[in-house]
Amino acid sequence: MALETASITVLGATGSIGTSTLGVLARHPERFRVRALTGHRNVMLLAQQCQRFAPELAVVADAASAAQLRSLLGGFGTEVLHGAEGLEQAAGAGADITVAAIVGSAGLRPTLRAVRGGGRILLANKESLVMAGALFMDAVAASDALLLPVDSEHNAVFQCLPGNFSRTRLVDSGVVRVVLTASGGPFRQSSTAELEGVTPDQACAHPNWSMGRKISVDSATLMNKGLEVIEASWLFGVAPEALEVVIHPQSIVHSFVEYRDGSMLAHLANPDMRVPIAHALGWPDRLASGVGPLDLVGLGRLDFSAPDTQRFPCLGLAYQVLRAGGTAPAVLNAANEEAVAAFLQERLAFTAIPAVIERTLAREPLQAVTGVDDIMAVDAAARVRATAVIREMAGIAL
Ligand code: NDP
Repeated sequence: MALETASITVLGATGSIGTSTLGVLARHPERFRVRALTGHRNVMLLAQQCQRFAPELAVVADAASAAQLRSLLGGFGTEVLHGAEGLEQAAGAGADITVAAIVGSAGLRPTLRAVRGGGRILLANKESLVMAGALFMDAVAASDALLLPVDSEHNAVFQCLPGNFSRTRLVDSGVVRVVLTASGGPFRQSSTAELEGVTPDQACAHPNWSMGRKISVDSATLMNKGLEVIEASWLFGVAPEALEVVIHPQSIVHSFVEYRDGSMLAHLANPDMRVPIAHALGWPDRLASGVGPLDLVGLGRLDFSAPDTQRFPCLGLAYQVLRAGGTAPAVLNAANEEAVAAFLQERLAFTAIPAVIERTLAREPLQAVTGVDDIMAVDAAARVRATAVIREMAGIAL
């Protein structure tokens, strides 16, 4: 029997998740046809992707980039749009599958737009859930969207949960604990003194994963795991007390789910994002991802240890805002994005990142979340506050 072809939009096609997604799609041309691709500044790569996958629509940051893309594509039949309106159109293009892989808070509106349009949403943009978890999950419930996690830990949890689990009654499935694994990043064994002098390139040289620069720094501070704790809490309805993090330097076990009878299920795979991407693209079928089999004997051992929240305070800050609720996670996210950008531009020391977040949180009032416009206003105000804090702290240990 011939398979039906699914249409697919990739938001953030030029990034690490976007290119891995296109790599998996290229293996299955009979199953998928690309409807829209969005990038931001990397016009050259987007042009190559358009030539390879022939989308109906491509979106870039601004009018100048759009003109450049049109000129690179010549008479090619892809419509080129730009800016927020272009993203809105791509997200609302009615594709069967939308991959939400824009980095940071810029992903919130387009991802929500895709959710409202229904279809299958492959969520990589964890910042959407961190900023607006309740709004986001309400939008999913109100639409006929099927939300599947692409983040490797959450995809692993999804695979270890029973097929009929309900996020509002996870306990009915017998789940007592969810354990997210963390590699510990490139500075797992560094002392506090060593952390003070680390450079952006050192922070972005992750031992196991190849990722964009922002998430690489988040991984090095353990903020990535903190954002993932918040993400898991919204996706699966797990209370903070039942969500744990363990350091697992090999990044082979991607998460665990523990049941009340004492059983613990784990998901294992080589550390390559094509595994969760292929899982979410094909679900409930299994698609070849291009990732090789696990060599258990070659690995020999798997290690686990507790995270050190003294050296890596960002994880503790994430638990704190998850418990506080309201706009606190959006403030944490905005302050983190500003602090990471300042670190990448060598305006802030690595060890000052958690201090910027903590001081911004202390100065921003906690409010209830009402709508997406309010969340974006809170995001903007927190960025102004964080920028002022960064200025105060500039030069510390640089
Ligand atoms: P990258 O930085 O590699 O890519 C980000 C993508 O978003 C690029 O396509 C970029 O375009 C686009 N983009 C950047 N800024 C904007 C903006 N203001 N408006 C619209 N588009 C924009 O990030 P990753 O692929 O690493 O991460 C993407 C998301 O997936 C993040 O939320 C991350 O936390 C999550 N994630 C990533 C994992 C990974 O392994 N990389 C693992 C799990 C989750 P351009 O490059 O053209 O400027």
